[in-house]
Amino acid sequence: MSYSLLNRSATKARKTHVCIWCCFPILSGSQYVRETSTYDGHFQNFAWHEACRKDADDWFGNGESEFTPGDSEMPFYALYKLEAHP
Ligand SMILES: [Zn+2]
Repeated sequence: MSYSLLNRSATKARKTHVCIWCCFPILSGSQYVRETSTYDGHFQNFAWHEACRKDADDWFGNGESEFTPGDSEMPFYALYKLEAHP
């Protein structure tokens, strides 16, 4: 496998996105991570909850190279919903 990160930036959601890690919505108005990369020659454009991106960093840091979207739950999702929609 070959993975290369093109760009990763924290940005504010102007509409609802779906997090590639936990498959829960990223709510409009909340801060999230936008990542573009290539994986085995395929262009990827992913949105992440900030907490999920940290989770993923741990996952890949443990030597894993792949993941299944929706297999991981976002940490503190209930709290996140409260913060995004006070
Ligand atoms: Zn997520």
